Amino acid sequence: MKNIAILGSTGSIGTQSVDVALKRGYKVTALTAYSNAKLLEEQARLLKPYKVALLDEKQASCLKTALKDTDIKVLSGEDGICECAAEEHAETVINSIVGMAGLKPTLAVINSGKNLALANKESLVAGGKLVTDAANKNGVTILPVDSEHSAIFQCLQGKPTNKALKKIILTASGGPFFGKTAEQLKDVTAADALKHPNWSMGAKITIDSATMFNKGLELIEAVWLFGVSPDDVDILVHRESIVHSLIEYSDNSVIAQLGVPDMRIPIQYALTYPERYPSPVKELDLAEAATLTFYKPDCDTFKCINICRDAINKGGLAPAAVNSANEEVNRLFREGKVKFNDIPNLILKGASAAKSKNTYTVEDIDETDKTVREAVISAVNRKD
Ligand code: NDP
Ligand code: MG
Repeated sequence: MKNIAILGSTGSIGTQSVDVALKRGYKVTALTAYSNAKLLEEQARLLKPYKVALLDEKQASCLKTALKDTDIKVLSGEDGICECAAEEHAETVINSIVGMAGLKPTLAVINSGKNLALANKESLVAGGKLVTDAANKNGVTILPVDSEHSAIFQCLQGKPTNKALKKIILTASGGPFFGKTAEQLKDVTAADALKHPNWSMGAKITIDSATMFNKGLELIEAVWLFGVSPDDVDILVHRESIVHSLIEYSDNSVIAQLGVPDMRIPIQYALTYPERYPSPVKELDLAEAATLTFYKPDCDTFKCINICRDAINKGGLAPAAVNSANEEVNRLFREGKVKFNDIPNLILKGASAAKSKNTYTVEDIDETDKTVREAVISAVNRKD
């Protein structure tokens, strides 16, 4: 029996992680969410963790009342979530919180010396140097949950990257707007963008897939996870989401990982690594899939990939700045306050308000986050 904790347990990755934990018979020792007290209570009654936490103080107090017939400790706020991240019985912690709010919990997992199964890519994007330095210092393995990075991790078979590795090729579904021109995208709404062809995911990442900012985040994530240069990470649009990513060696041999698009494969592998076990996921039937297609991304229409590439090339706080700007613009687009085609410029405008700094602390990232979000909101209010 293995002990695990799940941060962001009420979300898309979180609920699939609960499913994997139940099927594998794991003990879940801590659960967290933002404000969904109802689902967290259901999960707590089912899984009987030692601790649960909600970021929202009011909902946490409702949950405390609801769970008062149990021994489960109910915590609240950022500190409560970080206490769950460091829950003493857990060997591996899944961080499936959405957004850079996952950074402090990521660091809390690492600093408590536990394995980190990381879905929360924004924490690596915003604080890549802090996260990887802390992981090295504490001898912690970061096990990727993001399907592309799990694919690369599997292609590398857990070995660190070496000189013979020439390229990482991240596949991208292309999202709901693949093949569209800027003209065709000028009036698309959040409802249109939320119709992802292959994956059912949380709202924020689904919008990021439509703008392809998600692939930019994943490029930065790959740089930190595998220690490669941004120039050695290529993006390839693959509509069927069956080839989850590839690596190319210096002899031009290419290795890929394939499977049906179901996040329970990478979630389970992050939990069972280096072992493999049967999973509830359907077998891949390539004859049924019949055709696999590949295209170059259209970086002129989908400008967000290069916004992220430029940010990681610049380094320091630049990735944190574009990430925070995107989080805010993404939210405003979902609220119908921003047009789809204005997203890249607004991200750049917001990010340009941040101070540039090569070395940084968590406090610098928090300050960047605040400055950039305010800059985005004032740009939207001015309508410039
Ligand atoms: P969801 O929006 O479905 O779930 C997010 C979870 O985080 C919920 O439990 C939510 O609680 C909690 N949460 C939200 N905001 C905060 C906050 N400020 N502080 C603490 N907890 C918070 O997201 P997804 O599951 O889709 O994505 C989670 C992460 O995994 C993201 O980083 C995403 O990029 C990554 N990922 C997701 C994939 C997917 O298939 N969904 C694939 C690959 C990566 P509540 O329910 O109370 O709001
Ligand atoms: Mg992904």
